[in-house]
Amino acid sequence: MAKKKDISNLRESINKVDESLIKLLSKRRELSKSVILAKESSRSAIRDQKRESDLLNRLIKLGKKEGLDSHFLTNVFYEIIEDSVRLQQNYIQNKINKSEKRSSISISFQGIEGSYSYLAAQKYFSHSNYSLNFHFKKLFSEVVEAAEKGEADYAILPIENTTSGGINEVYDLLLHTTLSIVGEEKFQVKHCLVAIEDIPLNKIKKVYAHHQAAAQCSKFLETIPKAAIEYFADTAMSVQRVAEEGNQHFAAIASEEAAKLYGLKILKIDIANQAENFTRFLIATRKPQKVDTRIPCKTSIVMATSHTPGSLVDALGVFRKYQVNLLKLESRPIIGNPWEEMFYLDFEGNIFDEQIQKVLEELGHYTRFMKVLGSYPSQELEKTKLEYTKILNVEEKVHSVEEKKEVVKAPAVVKGKSKSYRLASREYKPEDTIIKVRNVEIGGNGFVVMAGPCSVENEEMIMQCALEAKENGAHILRGGCFKPRTSPYSFQGMGYDGLNLLVEAGKYYDMPVITEVMDTEQVSEVAKTADILQIGAVGKTHRPVMLKRGLSASIDEWLNAAEYILAHGNRQVILCERGIRTFETATRNTFDLSAIPVVKELTHLPIIADPSHAIGVRDKVIPLAKAAKVVGAHGIMIEFHPDPPKALSDAEQALYFEQFESLMKDLYKL
Ligand code: MN
Repeated sequence: MAKKKDISNLRESINKVDESLIKLLSKRRELSKSVILAKESSRSAIRDQKRESDLLNRLIKLGKKEGLDSHFLTNVFYEIIEDSVRLQQNYIQNKINKSEKRSSISISFQGIEGSYSYLAAQKYFSHSNYSLNFHFKKLFSEVVEAAEKGEADYAILPIENTTSGGINEVYDLLLHTTLSIVGEEKFQVKHCLVAIEDIPLNKIKKVYAHHQAAAQCSKFLETIPKAAIEYFADTAMSVQRVAEEGNQHFAAIASEEAAKLYGLKILKIDIANQAENFTRFLIATRKPQKVDTRIPCKTSIVMATSHTPGSLVDALGVFRKYQVNLLKLESRPIIGNPWEEMFYLDFEGNIFDEQIQKVLEELGHYTRFMKVLGSYPSQELEKTKLEYTKILNVEEKVHSVEEKKEVVKAPAVVKGKSKSYRLASREYKPEDTIIKVRNVEIGGNGFVVMAGPCSVENEEMIMQCALEAKENGAHILRGGCFKPRTSPYSFQGMGYDGLNLLVEAGKYYDMPVITEVMDTEQVSEVAKTADILQIGAVGKTHRPVMLKRGLSASIDEWLNAAEYILAHGNRQVILCERGIRTFETATRNTFDLSAIPVVKELTHLPIIADPSHAIGVRDKVIPLAKAAKVVGAHGIMIEFHPDPPKALSDAEQALYFEQFESLMKDLYKL
């Protein structure tokens, strides 16, 4: 009994803490509102990224003292910062557009209550104080018409999905509508399997689904082959039908919110083939809105270029001339004019900006039709970057411009015999290739750390490793899933289960992942989820490939292997120096440090050093890793383990966490 009482006391204390959190959040909001008023008189920018970054780095340091990891705190403060920025933007937007005082607005959308359009609209208007009235429509054309005729104030329309692409019908409607785009909402679509009761998946006889939702979850549906699939016009309608019919063997694919709305149980969450599934919605209304020039803004237009060769290139050249960032280019056939296209463009900028007016003016020379669909605040908020030197309390060495220049050598003059590789050479491409993986850039002047265990062993272990990598400023999470072992009795790796764990860990800690593939069949399968493939042989894939130097390959042979991949269309090749076989037997391999500066002169491709596999001895990995940075490698790959002696593979070379932490600090000082 005493125990029960303890728990209820603890719960009460937690409730009190939560209540004070809410009070503090509200107080913080009030303060940010006062900031808007202060900023308004000074016309200063809404976002002050320098201040945000200082704030975040200071808070993380403070949090570390309290035992809170930086990943957790960053997520909490990103939400708070985003809320405050949106609040300030909304205030300014309402002010300059002199929105009339009213208590409610009406929105037309395709579907019924609980559909993704409905949820996106709720999210979009969550920062306003309006109560929302919804007009349910069957067709997209009716959604647009309702807003055009004034039956609804706004129309919300899905325009593109990250899995299934552009929604053609909506593009075609935008061409003729009199509405203007005034906003966008990116909504993460999380498909679930829902039913009236919790029943085993193999008992399901029927699944109701929107055809796009079914396509996005095809792999999951293959696992319940006995269930027949019936198609619906809207995800929420399929849920509604399951609720109405009340048959426990029937299920639907829909969002968690829709399941709750119709009182259904969730049998399985996140069943889409691609976990990061987003739909972008546009919000349109009759009167175009002005966007304050301090707010990051997007503009959408539609145009048809003139009937002369190169007219599209000429039109796009205008964007280059004025240095305007083009975000999207989509083409749609013009009905009635075979082989002619309308182009839909999204770009950064505001039509009230002089620069953008010049762009539109000049575009007129190369187009025979052009319509501005609207300028609206961009939904993307650039996340404040963490500065690990501040968090880890290390003094970073600042490299002078001369030092940096020295790193990027001018192309070597070829003497004597010509090279057998071309695409990989500096002659073909003098400037460094920089490969961007999510937010990480490999190549150029940066230094990238890839870290993680030799093999993914289980969920807990890879999560521990991911946290360790993230907290110490590593950029990319590594982890082996398929292990080539000389003996069939050694650990073979966890295979695709391991890959799933690695990808999940990377997603959780917001880090790209790299993993090694063994044969060509694995390439396409692994490329679906892993960000970079590490490969011994050769591959055709759209993902960046890290090419290990063969144990007895000369630099020339290695670059020829890279050439092979480049020639097959993949221009994102990273070289990896991991030691070569020599007469030396005291070390696993001989780490060829001299190859790094030589390769940098010969090729534009980035080069990463892998001291762990080169030397194969834990204590010796650290000085070699530092040496790699000093000789100009674009990064290193390091293996560590929560309990190195117990590692299932490469136990002798995995660093202890403490060793990795001190290495990371030392690297900043070089
Ligand atoms: Mn290994």
